[in-house]
Amino acid sequence: MAQGQASLFDEQALAQVTTDPAARIEALRTEIEHHTYLYYAKDAPEISDAAYDSLMRELRELEHQNPHLIDPTSPTQRVGGYVGEQFAPVRHAQRMYSLDNAMDLAELDAWLERVVEFFGHMVDVVCELKIDGSSIALTYEDGRLVRAATRGDGTTGEDVTVNVRTVKDVPLRLRAEGMAGIAAPGAVEVRGEVYMPKASFDFLNKAAEANGKQAFANPRNAAAGSLRQKDAEITAKRDLSTFLYAIADQASLLATTQWELLQWLTDAGFHTNPDVKLCTQAQQVHDFCANALENRANLPYEIDGVVVKVNSFSQQAAMGFTARAPRWAIAFKFPPEEKTTVLQDITVQVGRTGALTPVAELVPVTVAGSTVARATLHNLDEVHRKDVRIGDTVIVRKAGDVIPEVLGPVLSLRPADAAVWQMPQMCPSCGSVVVREDGEAKHHCISIDCPAQAQERLIHWASRGALDIDGMGEEIVGRLVETGRLTDVADYYSLDVTELALLDMGRLNKEGVPIRLGEKTAQKLYDNIMASKNRPFARVLFGLGMRHVGKTTAEVIAAAYPTMEGLRAASVDDLAALEGVGPKIAASIYTFLRTPANVQVIERLEKRGVNMADDVSAAAPAEPAVLDGLTFVLTGSLVESGMTREEAGQRLKALGAKVSGSVSKKTSFVIAGEAAGSKYDKAVKLGVPVLDEAAFLDLLETKTLPPQ
Ligand code: AMP
Repeated sequence: MAQGQASLFDEQALAQVTTDPAARIEALRTEIEHHTYLYYAKDAPEISDAAYDSLMRELRELEHQNPHLIDPTSPTQRVGGYVGEQFAPVRHAQRMYSLDNAMDLAELDAWLERVVEFFGHMVDVVCELKIDGSSIALTYEDGRLVRAATRGDGTTGEDVTVNVRTVKDVPLRLRAEGMAGIAAPGAVEVRGEVYMPKASFDFLNKAAEANGKQAFANPRNAAAGSLRQKDAEITAKRDLSTFLYAIADQASLLATTQWELLQWLTDAGFHTNPDVKLCTQAQQVHDFCANALENRANLPYEIDGVVVKVNSFSQQAAMGFTARAPRWAIAFKFPPEEKTTVLQDITVQVGRTGALTPVAELVPVTVAGSTVARATLHNLDEVHRKDVRIGDTVIVRKAGDVIPEVLGPVLSLRPADAAVWQMPQMCPSCGSVVVREDGEAKHHCISIDCPAQAQERLIHWASRGALDIDGMGEEIVGRLVETGRLTDVADYYSLDVTELALLDMGRLNKEGVPIRLGEKTAQKLYDNIMASKNRPFARVLFGLGMRHVGKTTAEVIAAAYPTMEGLRAASVDDLAALEGVGPKIAASIYTFLRTPANVQVIERLEKRGVNMADDVSAAAPAEPAVLDGLTFVLTGSLVESGMTREEAGQRLKALGAKVSGSVSKKTSFVIAGEAAGSKYDKAVKLGVPVLDEAAFLDLLETKTLPPQ
């Protein structure tokens, strides 16, 4: 169906990526350094965290495979962070560690197993949400806030005390209950996260947009950026919040577990997250993670995972730290919703109406838990707007159930000879000329014999919203097309059970014998084909796949013209007068029904018993045809009766009238409702009699024309 564009280039690009790890590693390092600077120093990242992580992961993986290329200056060798010059540096009394990540449940289990192995049994762990904000360390002396610092590089952070004082939920003095839990007089340093609620973030970005200022990429950067304002007044206006969850020196408190620490933090007046659980078994940890992921979208703030911590401080101390992170904690990261991958090719798919859709063919990548190998690029303008080229490293996004999307390229990783992509001039399926009509976003193959279109039309006919032939999916249709049994939709109704049963599915079973459809399935399929003959006429109209005629339009048409015969007799104007059917759709239907190949298919369908007329005897006009030979045009809205134009048209037709969409000398009457427009003016100009709504209702009631 779809066919790739011939491109020597993408193979070269990929070959370079796969055969020259040193070059790729160098490119990745430069790129990551650039983004680290933008993120930490400027608070203005150009790519999402997930895309950044993805680059980092690729670099780590490549370094892992090529240990001789590891370099102490590589971004993989340090805790991310940047110490700015604008704020006074603060050396942390105790290092602010990062966390090790578990990228999936298997990695989480591996960590839990390490814990079990270490202690010889499972120990209590605390599950907390991983707040997606910016880390903060708050130092209290004699119960008073004396300093607030960012994490910085983990050893040295920035003094942001003045700004943090403006954050409303940060206590400036500890509550007495909290003071009672301190082990010895002196300083305590609590740690946690400062974040911006989603609503405040949206509000802030809308305001930024309205003032032509640059928006923040995400709430985390908005929080970090707001915290590092030169003017604390600005920070004060930013609606920041905090969640505290740690203490620098555990000996400074009477608490002996993480669970008690959380209680102490609450007692002392800190904002702590209510969504925490003390777990004794791995299963509870799994459940907490699953719930958190499910509930993520409903929270008023962003989270990017779950942090699991060994509960007891003494057990934590026994496990200790690596150079980078505690061994006694792990961050279970939610599957990232954005990843980077390589765009191998852009192919072109031909739809049932001949529309050509460029499709990104990607090096398969797991995003948000599912593999993404293809993503639509919609149309040529979209490809150019996103500026994606074959060979590019691109950012792919897939959030929840949403269809995967290519967001754009990572420009600095673009191969030097990557060319701007162009739509092929010939249809990749049939070789016919490709056209793009004025004002249309899509290119089209205009050949009616295009096999790709034919196959898509066949699939569409059998689809649920159309003739609903249960079991007639893409694979069977594909086989029937390949074996020459299906060319157009009328062919469905000449299939018999025996040939369906013998249909070669193009695959072999374990014994090397070709798999056939089989009698049982064939019989069912045949019955379903037969049943589809009796679908309502609107389904048939939708199933025919006329351009611009969706399900709703098909229903509107079938309501006004319940028979194929009646519909064929309708003029473009008649059709255009229907509610929701403009001149473009009307012209498409009109032309479709007059194209010889289509007429033939419809006749064959009719002959084979496919429903071409709804039973309208119940609604048939028992009305006298008093308006026979007269043409009416409706304009404005019928406010008194509340009738839609379509309903009004139906009532007129029931009396034998024709209804048209435009006024001409041949128009017998114009019915003008409220706010009548140019049709009214034209009627007056041409001397066509105009009826107001009252006169129209009178006409329907009395079935007599008003005196002229
Ligand atoms: P990362 O920045 O991905 O290395 O993750 C570590 C960071 O997660 C820590 O520095 C904290 O700022 C942050 N974090 C968010 N929520 C929590 C939590 N409940 N417990 C510990 N760290 C957390």
